[in-house]
Amino acid sequence: MRAAVGLALALLLAACDREPLHREEAYVFGTLVEIQTWGVDDQRAHAAIADVFADFQVMHSTWHAWQPGALARVNAGLKSGAWFSAPPSVLPLIERSVRIARASDGLFNPAIGRLIAAWGFHRDDLPTAPPPRADVEALLRARPRMTDIEIDGIRIRSRNPAVQLDLGAIAKGYAVDLGIARLRAAGIENAIVNAGGDLRAIGRKGERAWRIGIRHPRTPGVLAAVEVQGDECVFTSGDYERFFDHDGKHYHHIIDPRTGAPSRGTTSATVIHGDGAEADAAATALLIAGPQDWYRIARQMGIRYAMLVGADGTVYMNPEMAKRVHFETEPPPTVILSAPL
Ligand code: AMP
Ligand code: MG
Repeated sequence: MRAAVGLALALLLAACDREPLHREEAYVFGTLVEIQTWGVDDQRAHAAIADVFADFQVMHSTWHAWQPGALARVNAGLKSGAWFSAPPSVLPLIERSVRIARASDGLFNPAIGRLIAAWGFHRDDLPTAPPPRADVEALLRARPRMTDIEIDGIRIRSRNPAVQLDLGAIAKGYAVDLGIARLRAAGIENAIVNAGGDLRAIGRKGERAWRIGIRHPRTPGVLAAVEVQGDECVFTSGDYERFFDHDGKHYHHIIDPRTGAPSRGTTSATVIHGDGAEADAAATALLIAGPQDWYRIARQMGIRYAMLVGADGTVYMNPEMAKRVHFETEPPPTVILSAPL
């Protein structure tokens, strides 16, 4: 009898151990990061996830725009105008950013770190008022662009001392890619790395695809759901993430490099793409591009799935994206479909 109970207990424990979904959370990149794995035992999943979270902490300080670290040293070098060796932890991101910035017509422009700092978004505390217009004008006249950076092997320099890098629009995407690569190296084939709603998913959640919620830009909760499987990233940029209100106006953290001020006309932009860095940068660029220009910029950037929410709640997207988006609001929003991307 005792043996039978023991056996039953052992079987029960074994069954628990095979519980297919494993989920952990940590606070990194200023946001809650959630990692889920499917079909791996808890011990292996935990070990791999702990490695990813440890890597993320290092990446966070390496790419931080206003705390001492590798990026801060790169920015000091760029300001000097002299050639210097770029740290290997930052160089690939710079190379990718130069190319992506060009494809976005400079709407994604990580060289505008000084402009972002002038707005006060380079601080942990949020600003309370916009900067003097004259300061913004002076920074715009200096025209910092990624193409000001010359790259020769591992050595780089800037032809323009106004170039200061802020990788906030791409670093999370790049990190999520590296996180997934690390899970794969540990033999995990079904997983999701979700950094505050921006994510990469691989494989499936058992019999089903991973189901992702896209946040409503104006009301708490979900605007739409999409299913992802295989290997895909879903990234959203929004005017609700970091912002302040001043004299009845809404100022957010994504700066239109043409005006030097927070972009207007779009409350969120979502991109689905196979690569996290591209998806992240493209979501930021399309938010700035807005209802008028998003289609052209998305084509130039090689984006196949995009959705924008306009200031009045109208949704703009391409037909392929529309096939994948399931609205969760009642009534669903007005949708304006573009030509195919
Ligand atoms: P995301 O949430 O990916 O759209 O990134 C927003 C962050 O990117 C901001 O907090 C800034 O650090 C930075 N940023 C703001 N405007 C731009 C821009 N036009 N191009 C590149 N990075 C930007
Ligand atoms: Mg982005």
